[in-house]
Amino acid sequence: MISENCIFCDIVSRKQPAYIIYEDSEVMAFMDHAPVELGHVLVIPKDHFENIFEIDEERYHQVLRIARFASIAVKNFTGADGININQNNGRCANQRVMHYHVHVIPRFCSRNITWERKSASSDEMLDLSTGIAREMSAIIE
Ligand SMILES: [Zn+2]
Repeated sequence: MISENCIFCDIVSRKQPAYIIYEDSEVMAFMDHAPVELGHVLVIPKDHFENIFEIDEERYHQVLRIARFASIAVKNFTGADGININQNNGRCANQRVMHYHVHVIPRFCSRNITWERKSASSDEMLDLSTGIAREMSAIIE
């Protein structure tokens, strides 16, 4: 189930490019193009559900399962001291893309926590996505 005018559905159908780190029949994970920290990953169901009020329980668990693996992979590759897992539901809760997604954000003791978006170069994104994808494939069950 694909929704028109949805950037994440366009990534799933390869109409939009993304640095994909993981994909199976139901779930996809890719680098956030405007990361809060370098290594910020998004995990989504491939089918279009607007938010937690729409997603079915099975898909919800599948996405969170992959978010756990992504957390480990991001921590291993970036050397992060911690991980934030964030998930916004509804425009007033700061949901910007109306396709259910889970943020996996590396955090470092040496840096203040902010939610400001950074820009990352294509070299940085390629390096991060390649490394995190490799970690994902090493730990996935
Ligand atoms: Zn969508």
